[in-house]
Amino acid sequence: MASVTTIGVPTQRRNGHRSETNVTELDGTELSSAELPGIELNGTALNGTALNGTERAAPRSPAYNYAFTELVEPDWRRLPGWRDVNSADWRSAQWQRAHCVKNAAQLRAVMGDLLPEFVYADLARDQAQYSSMQMLLTPQIVNTMVPHEAPDADSFYADPVRRYMLPLASDRAAQWSSHPLASRDSLHEHEMWQVEGLTHRYPTKVLAELTSTCPQYCGHCTRMDLVGTWTPQVTKLRFIGKPVDRYAAMMEYLQATPGVRDVVVSGGDVANVPWPTLEHFVDRLLTIDSIRDIRLASKGLVGLPQHWLQPAVVAGMERLARTARERGVQIAIHTHTNSAQSVTPLVAEAARTMLHTGIRDVRNQGVLLAGVNDTQEQLLDLCFALLDGAGIMPYYFYLCDMIPHAEHWRLPVSKAQDLQLSIMGFLPGFATPRIVCDVPYLGKQWVHQLVDYDRERGITSWQKRYLTSIEADNGAERTYRYFDPVQSLPESGQGWWRTQSADPTGAVLESLTS
Ligand code: SF4
Repeated sequence: MASVTTIGVPTQRRNGHRSETNVTELDGTELSSAELPGIELNGTALNGTALNGTERAAPRSPAYNYAFTELVEPDWRRLPGWRDVNSADWRSAQWQRAHCVKNAAQLRAVMGDLLPEFVYADLARDQAQYSSMQMLLTPQIVNTMVPHEAPDADSFYADPVRRYMLPLASDRAAQWSSHPLASRDSLHEHEMWQVEGLTHRYPTKVLAELTSTCPQYCGHCTRMDLVGTWTPQVTKLRFIGKPVDRYAAMMEYLQATPGVRDVVVSGGDVANVPWPTLEHFVDRLLTIDSIRDIRLASKGLVGLPQHWLQPAVVAGMERLARTARERGVQIAIHTHTNSAQSVTPLVAEAARTMLHTGIRDVRNQGVLLAGVNDTQEQLLDLCFALLDGAGIMPYYFYLCDMIPHAEHWRLPVSKAQDLQLSIMGFLPGFATPRIVCDVPYLGKQWVHQLVDYDRERGITSWQKRYLTSIEADNGAERTYRYFDPVQSLPESGQGWWRTQSADPTGAVLESLTS
């Protein structure tokens, strides 16, 4: 396949400018700004403000000017350790995997003398005291940090990709680095395993975790309890069964559960499942009549696009797409990127190559992260880079889950509601991502679906609108909660959390999660 990678410096960048505009409802209906004040859901204005019946939210004036921007591959040769790496090596999945950056010494070898010593000391402190994920960065990912100049300490610290892929101790919140109710498996997925690695928490869909590894590890990983190797902070859960037995048990469950029509094949990252194994698993899914959607989860499409460009993978995906088409099943790849600068020509080539195999779609599920993508401009830049540059559909942005030491990344629900409104009207309706909260035990909820919001304590309440076969009869009446970062609360709210955290019985905190 001919290379379409270009390397160098981008010729233009997007800038936000103030402008008046209309907004678009989630169903795609255009609304003028004059119509906005009356929009209300569950007693809450769409900007998250509680309404008393007569109050109405003030219209906002989104500020963003769209300009098509050509993707440019950052030149890896600006980094001293990769000065002599040629394009053929760079495009090799094997070379990328063999040259991953896994520790401070390897980072130093790549960066040469670009970064001062205190950066490495900051990194060492993070790994010893906070990090829940091992350091594992593909060269592709490192190359998208400070993408178009040689990094120095300032640009490295400020860089959005660095902020979530290579956390440093000084990034973490000083006072509340963990929420008092943070937990390792914050979504309680393991409690919902039907067989090892198969989570069934929605009525018609399941999550199948095939592997517990990825080609790269993200600092904010929701599945930090299971995914990756041990860190000084976290002894990881391990699958007990052999992969072949676990996969067979998953198939048995799915054959016996015809109410499931949608399987998310994930991990970890399916880019770390040997291709013949993954193809065999998906092939078997395609023999189950009730399954209509299969989604393959791989951040590797962005972090290691070279994997998805390998001829054996492309040919295998063509076989799967052909079979899926014959059986009326839709296969999609779901990837995960949080910053526009990660979307490079190689990523676009991998996404478009996958689309050309005949699969239905490539979609992005990002995570909202402070200092990474918490502005309208950053979100829209990312969505347009995905959509226009790579043919990837912006699909979801999640609020960051409540894992330990994640408070410097997490945003309050109110901020997520504002961000959702701020991006309406700029993208086609079909490509306008929903910002969702993955509420523990409940699942994904659009951020405006909450039923109650205690702003002082940052407690949002949510309710289920459906039952699955695994729930008790009263499951729909239970209230589920998600919590804003304590540091974002007024002093009175922070004081309340301090008091509850100091209570040796923990009774109030326990009542919030039961
Ligand atoms: S790629 Fe996904 S599963 Fe792997 S570390 Fe990142 S967030 Fe976790």
